[in-house]
Amino acid sequence: MKIIVADDLPESALELLRAETGWLVDARSGRSATELATDLADADGLLVRSATKVTADLLKSALRLRIVGRAGTGVDNIDVAAASGRGILVVNAPGANSISVAEHACALMLALARMVPAADRAMKAGKWEKKRFLGTELRGKTLGILGLGRIGQEVALRARSFGMRIVAHDPFIAQEIAESMGVELLSLDEVCAGADFLTLHLPATAETRHLFSDARFAKVKPGLRIINTARGELIDEAALKRAIEAGTVAAAGLDVFEKEPPADWGLARMPQVVATPHIAASTEEAQELVGLDTAAAVRDFLRDGVVRNAVNFPAIQPAELQRLQPWIRLTESLSAIVTQMGPARIHAIGLRYYGALAESRATDILGASAAAGVLRPILSGGVSIVNARAAARERGIEIVETRSTRARHYTSLVSVKLHTSDGERWAEGTVFEPNSPRLVSVRGVAVEAPLAGTMLIVSNDDQPGVIGEVGTILGRHRVNIANFALGRGDSGAIGVVNVDEEDREPNTLDEAVEAIRNVPAVREAWIVRLPATNT
Ligand code: NAD
Repeated sequence: MKIIVADDLPESALELLRAETGWLVDARSGRSATELATDLADADGLLVRSATKVTADLLKSALRLRIVGRAGTGVDNIDVAAASGRGILVVNAPGANSISVAEHACALMLALARMVPAADRAMKAGKWEKKRFLGTELRGKTLGILGLGRIGQEVALRARSFGMRIVAHDPFIAQEIAESMGVELLSLDEVCAGADFLTLHLPATAETRHLFSDARFAKVKPGLRIINTARGELIDEAALKRAIEAGTVAAAGLDVFEKEPPADWGLARMPQVVATPHIAASTEEAQELVGLDTAAAVRDFLRDGVVRNAVNFPAIQPAELQRLQPWIRLTESLSAIVTQMGPARIHAIGLRYYGALAESRATDILGASAAAGVLRPILSGGVSIVNARAAARERGIEIVETRSTRARHYTSLVSVKLHTSDGERWAEGTVFEPNSPRLVSVRGVAVEAPLAGTMLIVSNDDQPGVIGEVGTILGRHRVNIANFALGRGDSGAIGVVNVDEEDREPNTLDEAVEAIRNVPAVREAWIVRLPATNT
């Protein structure tokens, strides 16, 4: 067995692989792409951190390769779809650094409460400024946690020992999980209004980008101390600077920045800011654990065929995967639609397969695709159809699958119903041969539209002029319409608009939707961003 380790991994991880009889472990960082391609020609396994780019081209030359291990969480440096296409398993080490990040968040929280860095700076300057550093206790204060996932939960556990009251906002975690930790789940506005300390542990997505803007800072409890060890994009740094200058935010502890290193050091230099250079996960233990976890996953697969921490799905034959691809895309897209129709706590995903599809073996994968569609925009660390069912189970989300051999208007049809704290949401679709997933109904109203890119879904009273108004608003905001579909039901109309979304600031689509929501005949309007890939 030959394993290539292309980035620096702890010695313990290499030892674990070398301990296997007959295994050759070639560990060396800094190889050129050509060198790596040559070395991979007869390799069975590849281990990387974030430096090595595992591209489709590189994988082409790796004819024997069966597994890529990413020592870390994000898999941005790996072309996962290309690996799946070649039957190569990709594994990572989610959660191995959670404790380190949680401890760093606590370190920043204490640093802010007691002004440790500033006091130390004064001491180093030979100044004994006892009166200047009047701190505040954590005891009895309210800690707001945004995102109660792996890291958020570890922070909650630790903050309890300081005697803090802990509230959290996470629309996607089961109520029971929060309750079992003594954490009260509240709305985002409630958490922001009540928290003395606020710590961010949610992923950066199109929805959470600049979650902390001028408007959000206007709603926080004055004197807030905010900590970000998640992702820089969550905070509009210019708005944070303004909030600190205005005194709304008393202090900020930042490990992550919109640009790293920062393009503008102004924020990091403010006296109210304690900044660290994205080191929350940089501990000996985390590096060791991440390396060991990944090496063990690679070893277990190559030695025993056991799959752990997989982020893709190569077990299925590439030709079969290719055939199912449009159905996988359809199911994931329908699930993404119902999930993005406003935040709510998800209890269950109901799937119903109609017609020929009901008799196929594909439905096993489609259940997983639905879970991936729901969880991918919510969780960090690579949700895929391999691990999505397990991730749903962990979060207390049930997947209920039923089938009917009756064909409803189409040869095959997938119906996805999301059961949430806010009621049920429902969308249906089919595949127009050869491979074009189509939406065919929303909330039981027949409306047909292509499933791709960014969509705007509008529910409105069925009366003249609404479509014209929506079109005018989009035009005014320079949002290009690619397709406009309309459906009429007993209880009102549904419009589905496929739009060209451009990556520009400010996001005019968000503004357009706000304006559309204000049209009197419009009851609700949502932006849905569909995933680009899904394996
Ligand atoms: P996780 O996927 O386990 O948890 C994320 C949680 O956020 C989930 O419970 C999810 O339901 C919740 N969430 C999603 N969207 C939300 C929203 N709009 N509002 C409120 N909650 C929402 O992830 P994790 O492993 O705990 O990581 C948390 C963050 O920390 C991620 O952003 C990750 O990238 C970051 N991270 C940073 C470092 C570092 O070095 N600073 C290291 C590891 C992870």
